[in-house]
Amino acid sequence: MIIIMETNSTHEQIENVIESVKKLGFRPHLSYGEEKTIIGVIGDERQITDSYFKSLPGVENVIPILKPYKLVSRDFKKESTIVKVENVLIGNGHRVVIAGPCSVENEEQIIKSAQIAKKYGANLLRGGAYKPRTSPYTFQGLGIEGLKLLQQAKKVTGLPIVTEVMEVSEVEIVAEYADVLQIGTRNMQNFRLLQAVGRINKPVLLKRGMSATLQEFLMSAEYILSEGNYNVILCERGIRTFVDYTRNTLDLNIIPAVKKLSHLPIIVDPSHGTGKRDFVIPLSLAAIAAGADGVIVEMHPDPNKSISDADQTISPEQFADLMKKINALESLIKTWSQNGR
Ligand code: PEP
Ligand code: MN
Repeated sequence: MIIIMETNSTHEQIENVIESVKKLGFRPHLSYGEEKTIIGVIGDERQITDSYFKSLPGVENVIPILKPYKLVSRDFKKESTIVKVENVLIGNGHRVVIAGPCSVENEEQIIKSAQIAKKYGANLLRGGAYKPRTSPYTFQGLGIEGLKLLQQAKKVTGLPIVTEVMEVSEVEIVAEYADVLQIGTRNMQNFRLLQAVGRINKPVLLKRGMSATLQEFLMSAEYILSEGNYNVILCERGIRTFVDYTRNTLDLNIIPAVKKLSHLPIIVDPSHGTGKRDFVIPLSLAAIAAGADGVIVEMHPDPNKSISDADQTISPEQFADLMKKINALESLIKTWSQNGR
């Protein structure tokens, strides 16, 4: 349930409610809105009586959140969340472009990728050091060595790093090097891993499970928020359907759906979503036009030589073209909103 405080409730009254929530054995989660402070009460709701909270001073109303996800829902927080990664803002009108290779392969490759990403206007650098591969016989990533190379690339370009974490035991080391921890599609329902990244203070990029429903996706985000980490960016990366001419089907429908139900930012990955290099630009533009808060794309200085996901990896020239088109599209979108459309 959520407790809505009166507009002019005092700091003491808010503290008093928080203490009462804790005393009853529940976890309070605070949301300071533009107008009102909301306190989320997390725990087994069957054991809470709303009339008790209603009687506390400064409380305006107590309402149950009927959806299974609470903290990620717009009922809990009306304003769209802006996730901050160093000086990059993501969400609520701030769009992000994340670019870089599927995997970190060597020093030259990742530094060059970072320089190209930076040159054309990417905000963050991606690159996997720990790779979830379908075959145990393919390249599994450079591990810590890869994290160190990402750090070097960051030193050269200043671009913050997005990289995947696959294991609870590796959260600490990845968090040491990464600015955003990515949870891959195959781990979207690895609940212990979600809880572990919920306990760190770095933003998390949560990719949608390849067969996850919208509700399952939001429940996975809820795992992270419920541990205290509110900096979650959702990512649509394509789902499995009967379609076989692309690697996955990019479900752009989920963008307005997420915007309606949740305050969290959502970005789109057209590289994994299509599996085809030539589809990355059109689907990136479609995602931005549909209201996504950004895109994450695989780009390599020499894409045909990519050790992993070569078919869907764009070239530096394609990336330059993508950025030009995204910028043009954004100016167009701005004029739409100025004209009240
Ligand atoms: C990746 O980003 O390289 C990746 C493995 O993504 P996904 O988990 O979406 O397949
Ligand atoms: Mn990949």
